[in-house]
Amino acid sequence: MARVVNFNAGPAALPLAALEQARDELIDFEGTGMSLLEHSHREAPYEKVHREAIALLRRMLSVPETHDILLMQGGARGQFAIVPMNLLHAGKSADYVVTGTWAKQAHEEAVLFGNMAGAKARVVVSTEKDKKFARIPTKDELAFDPSAAYVHITSNNTLFGTQWQSYPETGDVPLVADMTSDLLSRPIDVSKFGLIYAGAQKNVGPSGVTVVIARKDLIAGGRTDIPQIFRYKSFADSESLFNTPPTFAIYVMRNTLRVLEEQGGIEALTRENAAKAKLLYDTIDASPDFWRAPVEKASRSIMNVVWRLPTEELEKKFLGEAKAASLVGLKGHRSVGGVRASIYNAVRLADVEKLVAFMREFEKKNG
Ligand code: PMP
Repeated sequence: MARVVNFNAGPAALPLAALEQARDELIDFEGTGMSLLEHSHREAPYEKVHREAIALLRRMLSVPETHDILLMQGGARGQFAIVPMNLLHAGKSADYVVTGTWAKQAHEEAVLFGNMAGAKARVVVSTEKDKKFARIPTKDELAFDPSAAYVHITSNNTLFGTQWQSYPETGDVPLVADMTSDLLSRPIDVSKFGLIYAGAQKNVGPSGVTVVIARKDLIAGGRTDIPQIFRYKSFADSESLFNTPPTFAIYVMRNTLRVLEEQGGIEALTRENAAKAKLLYDTIDASPDFWRAPVEKASRSIMNVVWRLPTEELEKKFLGEAKAASLVGLKGHRSVGGVRASIYNAVRLADVEKLVAFMREFEKKNG
């Protein structure tokens, strides 16, 4: 079997053991004579998996009892709409910090809903114009509206390779974070957040399931003039069994979380993720005439490392030769160009070592 080293931005690498378990159990799940794909979501075999997935998230992320964990569908983009639908009450305004394309789209979605629902969404600051999203705003740029319904940030910018190193203080205003590309990669104090959401397809599992961690009082106080399927309360009241959940995606997420916990959980992941990023950035910084990282140092992401080569021709050559060496998924997002290595939880230090060895060799030949 020839598995490549997968630096995809998402869907992305999954732990091999999580996939092997799914393969081994695919046809006959735990001696039930049918696949988990064929099981009812209202019966014990699936319910056990569902509850374990939620329990693993609670344990690994140290989610306090003040917060519910919901498993939803619609991806992170679904949450761009569902967050304002629930939390942006009529007559209120929400604050958005725009640090990338995803943050911008989240804001646009809130504006659209606000137009329908008698509310507003404001951009606190955008880093698009001055620096092309190559940095996270400084503290003094963050003049929040103290009466805002919530403050929305994108904790890690998958396309541009920036990441909040510490989270902003928002006082009594709930902080909402899109953590699609860095949930479970480092410790977070969940109690500081009103709501966290993430499409699972980068660090915690496959596509198809969206993790939402939300303060119970915010869920309870959510708008009730929206369809039931979009209410957080529908999911909180039903242990995320309001309707048919994406059972197989949740199962593969459960397998993934099990593997990550066995590897040492959040502490081990934090250590390894930091080591992976350091190795890659050190390699880039060691040859500033050849590799160029456009992101400000203080804003660098440990999940998505982006860099450029001296010419686009060399970038093309680099990507082609990397692929031939089984290092795949390194092409920068089509809106950004260049090279991007997404080094999520399932990408191991040994994988990054292979990439760095390839980079050094490539530089020697082409530098
Ligand atoms: N937010 C961030 C930070 C992302 O990286 C992505 C996907 N790359 C999205 C939102 C959109 O996620 P989805 O495809 O699950 O809607």
